Amino acid sequence: MPEATDYMVIPPFSNEPYIDLNDTDVRAAMKNAIERVSSEQKEYLLMIGGEKLRTDKKIKSVNPSNPDQIIGTVSKADRELVDKTMVAAWKAFETWKNTPASERVKPFLKAAQIMRDRRYELDATMILETGKNWLEADADLAEAIDFLEFYAREMLRYASQQPVVQVPGEFNQLFYIPLGVGAVIPPWNFPGAIMAGMTSAAAITGNTVILKPASDTPIIAAKFVEILRKAGLPDGVVNYLPGSGSEIGDYIVEHPRTRFIAFTGSKEVGLRINELAARHQEGQLWIKRVVLEMGGKDAVVVDATADLDAAADGAVTSAFGFQGQKCSAGSRIIAVESIYDELLEKIIERTKEITIGDVAVPENWLGPVINEQAMKRIMSYIEIGAKEARIVTGGNRAKGLNGFFIEPTVIEGVDRDARVAQEEIFGPVTALIKARDYDDAIDIANGTEYGLTGALYSTNRERIERAKRDFHVGNLYFNRKCTGALVGVQPFGGFNMSGTNSKAGGRDYLSLFLQAKSISEKIIT
Ligand code: NAP
Ligand code: MG
Repeated sequence: MPEATDYMVIPPFSNEPYIDLNDTDVRAAMKNAIERVSSEQKEYLLMIGGEKLRTDKKIKSVNPSNPDQIIGTVSKADRELVDKTMVAAWKAFETWKNTPASERVKPFLKAAQIMRDRRYELDATMILETGKNWLEADADLAEAIDFLEFYAREMLRYASQQPVVQVPGEFNQLFYIPLGVGAVIPPWNFPGAIMAGMTSAAAITGNTVILKPASDTPIIAAKFVEILRKAGLPDGVVNYLPGSGSEIGDYIVEHPRTRFIAFTGSKEVGLRINELAARHQEGQLWIKRVVLEMGGKDAVVVDATADLDAAADGAVTSAFGFQGQKCSAGSRIIAVESIYDELLEKIIERTKEITIGDVAVPENWLGPVINEQAMKRIMSYIEIGAKEARIVTGGNRAKGLNGFFIEPTVIEGVDRDARVAQEEIFGPVTALIKARDYDDAIDIANGTEYGLTGALYSTNRERIERAKRDFHVGNLYFNRKCTGALVGVQPFGGFNMSGTNSKAGGRDYLSLFLQAKSISEKIIT
């Protein structure tokens, strides 16, 4: 990436390539980085208006592959510090909002470059902090870099002259201006990409941000905030404020000076934020804007004309990639009657081949789930599944491992309305559901309250065309897995209880952080 001295020199966007895990140098570099990050065990401070602050209460970031290992600690903010941050962020807004877009994008492009330079260290941080395997961690980082690069270009587009109709005797213009101070509340499951994506979109548009990272993954967020600072982002534009969702989350959301909230996480928390943010607080001057991306119960549909090997590969990768802890995870596999048994065999075969263990070792494909509470929740869903239907492979905690490992679990013969077919489990568990025919399969696929991603394996053109119309999801895929959306290529966000359909990585996204000002001047002759 050349130095961005002028927006004219930024080349067109292209997605960041992944590292090649078969390359021996790459493997050595990653091993080395994992060792280095393991021994860091640093304490990270709050960052408020450029000032670093230590508090007595801490959040410990634990390695889910090995819970005895602490990756680092961060100071924990309280409500008083939220107030302090609010003041600092509004102060920074006064200058940042008037900084030209061509200047504002520079620290983000520079940060993308620093992230490339520190790639192995940042990958290793996510491997250790979240239990992502090497490829998943690198994909997360590549997506974070993509968001910075994509939104920088998008910001320049929004800042360029906007097309309005001119009428005789007037000069008309339209500008996009920022909103104010916003809260960015990301989940732990894409601790690089979603955290950096929401933060950069909110800030590059001229707003200032209170970033409350997920409590399971505060270290990668702390490193990102440091990188932004090194890249020249002015003090107070992005403030780092870890703390528990219930303690300071509600408080930030309800704060009368919060202008907008960008949240990605569970349906329950999203709906709560929506409700709290809607309530007018004394002295509040605006209607808070909320951008909410929530859960999924995504389906891989396989019809009678599908290539069943490809479908089994795609279904298994969709179901178990990052232990099924993706909002896009294929947690339902819907197969038509005529190929159901054959597909089931192939899925079981592939699931049994999955290697489980500490993801510091690259040969382990399936890592741990995020924490003990998640492990218990997932295990209780497996128990429910065993009652509702039949577990054909997996179903237990992985033996002989210290971390939060659960075997990849396939439940077959699941009724479309069963709990394991309706509720988001968010773990390595998938439900196989039998459909009478193609139409029934699409009905089942649409039969949850969510609508995030979906895939159809079929070679029938007419059915593919019908699915484009009838399969009601924000991100639809044919003859490929239902996970792994790329920035700019597949703008990402769902329907119904999956959220507000803000398409992250798409051309509409930055408008959510902006408001339009129309200006007319009468031409005096
Ligand atoms: P979560 O429990 O809802 O938490 C998300 C974030 O909200 C965390 O930072 C959390 O902080 C914070 N939070 C919790 N309670 C809060 C409150 N009362 N007020 C304000 N903030 C609060 O979700 P998660 O377990 O991190 O993430 C998994 C969920 O995210 C799944 O449902 C998944 O489908 C969804 N997801 C959706 C998308 C999408 O694009 N649609 C993408 C990724 C993930 P603490 O960590 O401190 O609790
Ligand atoms: Mg952790």
